[in-house]
Amino acid sequence: MKHCPICNRSSDEARFYGEFCEFCAGKKMREKLAREVEVTACRDCGRIKVAGVFVPNSESNMQQLLSSVYKPYRVRLIHNANGIARMQITDERRDGMSIEHNAHIKTLRTLCDTDAKKRSGYYEAVVQLRGDEGKVSRMAAALERYLERNDAFITKIEQKEHGVDIYASNKKAAFAFISGRHLGFKGSYELHGEKRGKRLYRNTYFITL
Ligand SMILES: [Zn+2]
Ligand SMILES: [Zn+2]
Repeated sequence: MKHCPICNRSSDEARFYGEFCEFCAGKKMREKLAREVEVTACRDCGRIKVAGVFVPNSESNMQQLLSSVYKPYRVRLIHNANGIARMQITDERRDGMSIEHNAHIKTLRTLCDTDAKKRSGYYEAVVQLRGDEGKVSRMAAALERYLERNDAFITKIEQKEHGVDIYASNKKAAFAFISGRHLGFKGSYELHGEKRGKRLYRNTYFITL
């Protein structure tokens, strides 16, 4: 029979982890855990930053973030609302000793790269679609979907007499769309600045549908 050196409970009354009873061992573990966790979130899209990347604010992504905060423990998120995350924290190295822990979630609001660019009107390419109204609007919608799937976006769309000018945030993605659909185009390239000694061009693609 063992007795806990802190509370004098015996091994008949409680489970033991090492020399301490489960209550005292759990208390010692809880004292070392952070009570506040900082989460960086985008003020526009609400995504959170996990391992340096903005990802959707889902339960599994939040759990991954908490796991990195409470390393080397295993974390299971039980509930996350109103700025408090309740979780089960398990120490695999100590016979799977497990406690429940509440942490205040402190949200730091910022802008993700995509939204910072959106707000500043950023664009790298202009896709000028001309032709039959139905064809132009179907192609514009397809381009928008393609850009979104490739982590790019449309900054603005200008209505023109025989079509639209679409300002796209990423010229690689815009060009991949055009060549993927085998669209013939007339290209022009406008110098708009320099970054680390490299000339930056804005590309314009004129396409007749
Ligand atoms: Zn004890
Ligand atoms: Zn965002």
